Amino acid sequence: MDKINLKNMTLKEMEVFFESIGEKKFRAKQVYQWLYRGISSFDEMTDLSKELREKLHTYAEIGNLKIIEVQSSKTDGTKKYLFGLEDGNSIESVFMKYKHGNSICISSQAGCRMGCKFCASTIGGLCRNLTAGEIIDQIVSVEKDTKEKISNIVVMGTGEPFDNYDNLFKFIHLANSKEGLNIGMRSITVSTCGIVPKIAEFAKDFPQANLAISLHAPNDEIRNRTMPINKKYDMEKLLDACHDYVKDTGRRITFEYALVSGVNDQSVHAEELSKRLRKIMCHVNLIPLNSVTESGLNGSSRAYALEFKDRLERLGITTTVRRELGSDIDAACGQLRLKNYENLEN
Ligand code: SAH
Repeated sequence: MDKINLKNMTLKEMEVFFESIGEKKFRAKQVYQWLYRGISSFDEMTDLSKELREKLHTYAEIGNLKIIEVQSSKTDGTKKYLFGLEDGNSIESVFMKYKHGNSICISSQAGCRMGCKFCASTIGGLCRNLTAGEIIDQIVSVEKDTKEKISNIVVMGTGEPFDNYDNLFKFIHLANSKEGLNIGMRSITVSTCGIVPKIAEFAKDFPQANLAISLHAPNDEIRNRTMPINKKYDMEKLLDACHDYVKDTGRRITFEYALVSGVNDQSVHAEELSKRLRKIMCHVNLIPLNSVTESGLNGSSRAYALEFKDRLERLGITTTVRRELGSDIDAACGQLRLKNYENLEN
């Protein structure tokens, strides 16, 4: 019989499980709370009887990610983790310190099948979806390793979260659960490359969470070249869905825009972009592209980014330039995982 992984369970599911093995419901809450305090084996759950711990060993397990590598920035406290999964796949997460609290960027899939030209995560294709337990465990493991509380989550690591919606859905409930990590919906941000039908679903399921869209282009011609998803859902469909999202949730949407030298960073692009975004309550976050050798695309300089920002602002679009954290480590999406993968191949 396969043992059941308790990290994949909501508190309610765990209560049902405890009753199914002849235990009282309240025991589930004790175990659940231990899990989110970073306890990784039944033997450490000191308020459970020896009999119960043995019974749990028989029927259940606690899935734990294994830390393969940690890179720590010497300048800003950023830490990048490479985690090993039970089947040998690996994923990465980035811990970042901000004035308003600690933040984590987590992965939703091992690999990715979206094929964006500038992104390192997609180079080996999709290996598989992460379970809700594997997504939440990135946070539990990093809190345990850093001994710091995380208050903000961005689902912006490897993978396309809306391509793994059911597990993302469960993960968000786990992260938000009062008895668990207790992270507020408003402190959770999900980033998508634009799987349009899921935008309305997300608005309905999580009206208080934040949504970021990886736009990266001012028109279909450029977006088709860099982001294959645009051939399925073009910019008009995407921006209509964003408009509805804002209407339904009352929340401002963020557009991520990585500046690629000579591709989307000219003044005509800023003008075109501002026209398309004018009717949407939004904010543009400019990202100086981290050059990934395999892509042949280069990031615009910081000076270019600031000029692009000024232009957009003059055109009435609120714009920020993303702070570059962890630039002395491999902090760009998928870079560490890719390096590990290449090391394995060589
Ligand atoms: N699939 C989701 C989330 C993961 S990608 C999405 O597309 O939003 C997270 C963000 O990093 C996206 O905005 C993505 O476009 C961006 N990104 C990918 N490669 C990058 C690179 N080399 N430099 C800068 N940003 C990059």
